[in-house]
Amino acid sequence: MPDLFIGGTWTGAHGGRTREIRCPADGTPVGTVDEAGPEDVAAAVGAARDAFDRGPWPRTPAAERGRLLLRVARLLERDRAALARAESLDTGKRLVESEYDLDDIAACFRWFGTLVASGDGGRVVDTGTAEVDSRVVREPVGVCALITPWNYPLLQTAWKVAPALAAGSTFVLKPSELTPHTAIGLMRLLAEAGLPDGAANLVLGSGPGTGAPLTEDPRVDLVSFTGGLATGRRVMAAAAPTVKKVALELGGKNPNIVFADADFDAAVDHALTAAFLHSGQVCSAGTRLLVQDRLHQRFTEAVVAGARRIRMGGPFDPDARTGPLISAAHREKVERYVAAGIAEGARLRCGGHRPDDPALRDGHFYPPTVLDACTAAMSVVREESFGPVLTVERFTTEEEAVALANDTEYGLAGAVWTGDGERARRVASRVRAGTVWINDFHPYVPQAEWGGMKQSGVGRELGPSGLAEYQETKHIWHRLTPRPGGWFS
Ligand code: NAD
Repeated sequence: MPDLFIGGTWTGAHGGRTREIRCPADGTPVGTVDEAGPEDVAAAVGAARDAFDRGPWPRTPAAERGRLLLRVARLLERDRAALARAESLDTGKRLVESEYDLDDIAACFRWFGTLVASGDGGRVVDTGTAEVDSRVVREPVGVCALITPWNYPLLQTAWKVAPALAAGSTFVLKPSELTPHTAIGLMRLLAEAGLPDGAANLVLGSGPGTGAPLTEDPRVDLVSFTGGLATGRRVMAAAAPTVKKVALELGGKNPNIVFADADFDAAVDHALTAAFLHSGQVCSAGTRLLVQDRLHQRFTEAVVAGARRIRMGGPFDPDARTGPLISAAHREKVERYVAAGIAEGARLRCGGHRPDDPALRDGHFYPPTVLDACTAAMSVVREESFGPVLTVERFTTEEEAVALANDTEYGLAGAVWTGDGERARRVASRVRAGTVWINDFHPYVPQAEWGGMKQSGVGRELGPSGLAEYQETKHIWHRLTPRPGGWFS
């Protein structure tokens, strides 16, 4: 069956191009999918444009759109096992993590479905006269280009697809070329749920070949992109000539600040999850551990001991606690950052070389790695390696901790660990990031906004703002009894 979904029809790529997907854990072939080129992208944008300008979806009442999203949530729950398996084969991540993701994905559809169904019906503006009915209404933004990464393929897709559809917009989705299968699965569920043809379109392929033409097409109103900083800059530049709206969810170099009065065991445990969950391939990973001087030695030793115990393995290995990196090229990038850190004076405390275990030989595995004695000048501290690499820096005062935490071009997330509630709130308010956890790391809920300050992005996903990204506001001024204004007479 062909894999591109355009105007409600499954179709192959122009010229018959395909791409083979292999599991990062052991290199086994997972499937071969169609690879869209510019002609396919143009057709998909045309279908989304037509569905927006002439189709029923943007004119469907909000309550009905909400009901469709709730149906999709139920279908996701029905197909949870198959979709989680597909996600794990594409990404190499543990099956249990993909299953958690599927629960979050269904919850995301449910949240936006409920939010839009509760609709605010617009805002009445008091103009000071009964002769005018003045309202501010929300309308769908139009045709959206949705471009997503490989680390949480279906979750990042859901964060865009659910609010776009809730708003009444139409879209063309381009998932990462490395992890296309669950996007295909989602399109099938949207069609089964009764979404009109052309409201949802799917193109598969590379960034330059498929993503770039999508960001340049003048018929697209909004580009919502999640991925790396360098690509985000390119997307923003490509959207500029036609002044598209742009929403960007980019990377992070997220500080995890630990004061000496923190709950030691909890802080150690979460420092490991912060840095090594999904082998560090998490945008909000706590990759910069900032520890107060007098706790530094004991805390770092405990983190190193914990990191050494993390067992790597494939998606279906019940004893594994983390999986492989996504590709050979990505592992080489991580290795270059570790080598650069050591060359710049960091001290390697654990990890730092490929595993010897023959069972892991065919996958792109790289062990949890801790670099101590780091400084903010090092490239491994400043730039996103997007792998299981934790750097440790020390601080003495609260002022110094805040300065170190903010010494980055990113501003996605961060955490502070302390037993002092006053200090926790002070530091949380001074860390320039879209999410700050106090005595915790990583949890999120669809009701709360997610996104970055500084170069971590533009706009917010999730929460009420996540829906607003896919809407335009319009002021409608209605004079109830027309009469001449008299300005020129
Ligand atoms: P990436 O930037 O390489 O690719 C992301 C997507 O953009 C892919 O679909 C890719 O094909 C496409 N793309 C590449 N070049 C393009 C171009 N010129 N025009 C249009 N599309 C193009 O990122 P990645 O390696 O897939 O993902 C990892 C990155 O994503 C990390 O930096 C991570 O921090 C970030 N991320 C951020 C969040 C967040 O919520 N802020 C969430 C997940 C991942």
